[in-house]
Amino acid sequence: MRQQYTKNRMLRLFAGLCLTLVFAACAPAPESAQEATRSGAADTQVYQWKMITTWPKNLPGLGAAPERLADRLRVMSNGRLDIKVYGAGELVGALEGFDAVSQGTAQMGHGAAYYWRGKNPAAAMFATVPFGMNAQEMNGWLHYGGGMELWRELYAKFNLVPFAAGNSGVQMAGWFNKEINSIDDLQGLKMRIPGIGGEVLSRAGGVPVVLPGGEIFTALQTGVIDATEWVGPYNDLAFSLHTAAKYYYYPGWHEPGPTLEAFVNKDAWEALPPDLQAMVESATQAINDDMLSEFTARNNAALDTLINEHDVQLRRLPDDVIEVLRLASAEVVAEIADADPLAKRIYDSYMPFLQDVRRYHSISEQAYLNVRQEPSPEQAE
Ligand code: CA
Repeated sequence: MRQQYTKNRMLRLFAGLCLTLVFAACAPAPESAQEATRSGAADTQVYQWKMITTWPKNLPGLGAAPERLADRLRVMSNGRLDIKVYGAGELVGALEGFDAVSQGTAQMGHGAAYYWRGKNPAAAMFATVPFGMNAQEMNGWLHYGGGMELWRELYAKFNLVPFAAGNSGVQMAGWFNKEINSIDDLQGLKMRIPGIGGEVLSRAGGVPVVLPGGEIFTALQTGVIDATEWVGPYNDLAFSLHTAAKYYYYPGWHEPGPTLEAFVNKDAWEALPPDLQAMVESATQAINDDMLSEFTARNNAALDTLINEHDVQLRRLPDDVIEVLRLASAEVVAEIADADPLAKRIYDSYMPFLQDVRRYHSISEQAYLNVRQEPSPEQAE
């Protein structure tokens, strides 16, 4: 009996000791208690940011991305990251976002890296390269092919942290007030076309003009420009470009899958706690996919509307014109590497990735699209 009692008592003592040890292990030491309090304070701190964009306020497609990004981050963070979005011209001009966020006028911007070619010619490669990678390939290069590391390195020089935050897919070649039947028709043609594509048009005899989206329609309608590219059917319809020019050309050789960007002031980024940084990383990647999905879903009906309701004349650029543009592109893109050592490293990362992905996609994506092919819209007419 006594032996049993002693055994029970020892078991109770042992259990008590275990509990004490467990509590001792779980209970915060004085130092970590203070850390917990600090972390608790950080968890409730609200970060109020401004995001300035290149797009007119409330523009569908491109302009929806910054609004959706801000909405998602507000919900994900339970209001701790509260971002107010400004359209082009509301806080600073459409093409002043890079400098404004760099200097801290706003904490975040949304645009396209080719608008900042003046800072470094290689910046454009993070948006799009004529005859270069499409949306799927850009995402592969940026997120798994070393592109993002180089983009971060380039933007760090300007106190910025970039993120991929949207992609339109292959764009249209643009709107022209006359037919393009040969390379002669490009001579002296004043066309709104940004990025490397603008330089290529210049080599082919055209006159590139850089205008933010909000100024395109008026410039085309008043004859300041003869032609413009913008995005694709969904976004072009929203701008009513079909009322200012009749001929709508494809394919968008100059923008085969441009990455849109979000960029954050580096000081503002470093001030965020790790969980909010992770939310920005995730939300931008979600928006990057979201834009491509929306364009993929909406371009089809928009093109039908343009052709069937607005009598738009759909045309394919002639092969010999494409060939001249292709040769000029190779020349212009190769010159990017000469700008400085970082530009060369960006070029030396992009081009081999393009070669590799093109080789594989020739027997996968492209081979599949070829076997799926139906007659082109003109052939079907
Ligand atoms: Ca465009």
